[in-house]
Amino acid sequence: MTEFGCMDARQIAQGLRAHDFTAREVAEGALSRVEEVDARVNAFLEVTPELALAAADKVDAALAAGSDEDLGPLAGVPVAFKDNMNLVGTHTTCASRMLENYVSPYTATCVQKMLDAGTIPLGKLNMDEFAFGSSTETSAFGVTKNPWDLERVPGGSSGGSAAAVASGMAVIALGSDTGGSIRQPGCFTGTVAVKPTYGVVSRYGIVAFGSSLDQVGPFSHTVRDAALALNALSGRDPRDCTSQECTVDFTANLDEGAAGMKIGIVPEFMHAQGLEPEMAAAVEEAAAKLEAAGASLVEVELPNAQAAMSAYYVLGPCEAFSNLSRFDGVRYGYQDPGHKDLNSQDDASRAKGFGPEARRRIMLGSYLLSAGVYDTYYYPAQQVRTLITADYKRAFEKVDAILAPVSPRTAFKIGEVSDPTTMYLSDIFTISINIAGNGGMNMPLGFGRDSGLPVGCQLIAPPFKDENMLRVAAELERIYGSAPVAPEFAEGRE
Ligand code: GLN
Repeated sequence: MTEFGCMDARQIAQGLRAHDFTAREVAEGALSRVEEVDARVNAFLEVTPELALAAADKVDAALAAGSDEDLGPLAGVPVAFKDNMNLVGTHTTCASRMLENYVSPYTATCVQKMLDAGTIPLGKLNMDEFAFGSSTETSAFGVTKNPWDLERVPGGSSGGSAAAVASGMAVIALGSDTGGSIRQPGCFTGTVAVKPTYGVVSRYGIVAFGSSLDQVGPFSHTVRDAALALNALSGRDPRDCTSQECTVDFTANLDEGAAGMKIGIVPEFMHAQGLEPEMAAAVEEAAAKLEAAGASLVEVELPNAQAAMSAYYVLGPCEAFSNLSRFDGVRYGYQDPGHKDLNSQDDASRAKGFGPEARRRIMLGSYLLSAGVYDTYYYPAQQVRTLITADYKRAFEKVDAILAPVSPRTAFKIGEVSDPTTMYLSDIFTISINIAGNGGMNMPLGFGRDSGLPVGCQLIAPPFKDENMLRVAAELERIYGSAPVAPEFAEGRE
């Protein structure tokens, strides 16, 4: 069987145009692969065969009518969406009991843009509940397994998106990243995983977590596929006032190489406590290889980045508390039956609808925003935010991109990290980028010398210069090869 999920967009485009296969065959192949593989991985919360086949038939009709020049480079590519993204007629649960029965009445802009590009939507993907977490273990519908080792987590919160790509079910999957939720699962599963600059992609139709931090981005096997997805996704949307006009072709400089680029190295990150030796070694090796390829390495300082974690766990919960207040069992969400007054109905609906991590964030945000406490935490956290943003601005006066770790360690075992603080530290290298609003991505670098599990590095771009990090990523891809499908799921690969 042709394993379409193991192909990239270029191979699918060529195959369709050469009539080696039809888009319907791609859709059917991808759907049967999901059925076969997902029993072991649990990446999907809902599969959408009707939508997939209808989208495929549209592509085939365009090909048959000879209008294939109207088809973009993503036509016929199997995709899937994190379950916090609305797609009309599908469940959008955010992996929460609270929204278990919620059916989207409309489609998110990012989802619509992927559909408009002619992709084949396979379904909706598992995640940490409301995107709170780094392992997909807070999902109310079971943990997603890491395709590289089924006893390990795929990272989170976009763990379903990462696992769907790493196991060759979807060619591209969308995730969202508030503090690291695209990049860290990208690192754990060895996938290219991009959080663009805040404002590149509209969040309209995404269930909001931290509105000043949330951004949407793609997972893929190749840098080019990620860039193609960004071409499709980016741009101003009148329904998200933070989205910006974008005329960049994200594929434009992928072949230019890193020669002549200035790449920043942050000593505080490289010597951070808790960074495991194999991860540090992988990032250092990537730096050396980029230098050998003609880039120059420049030390840059981010003196306030060590405060990012503290600022994030003030700002994030405050915004989450506010955003999640709409799930009251009246307007949205689970309604606990049999109550005589609204207060007790509200209390019971929220207590039963939300899992422990969501409740923790809501209570934290509620406390932090209360009178008196606000001045002590929220206000200083915003000041820290300004300082971190200024740090990056200063650093990017000297360099075109920054190279850093993504995650302090490789994928951990399911159940291994049980206390919230240790889990929160998963994002120690990613959070400051959301705080400042820059673009950041995971680029896979093969496998750890000790664990044998996927390792990766983070590439960070100046605001609205995401093409810089993609250019470095493309150079690393030439050196390390494109991200493979996990071997257990790669049999039959053509
Ligand atoms: N792990 C972080 C958190 O739990 C980030 C989550 C995210 O980016 N959505 O808040």
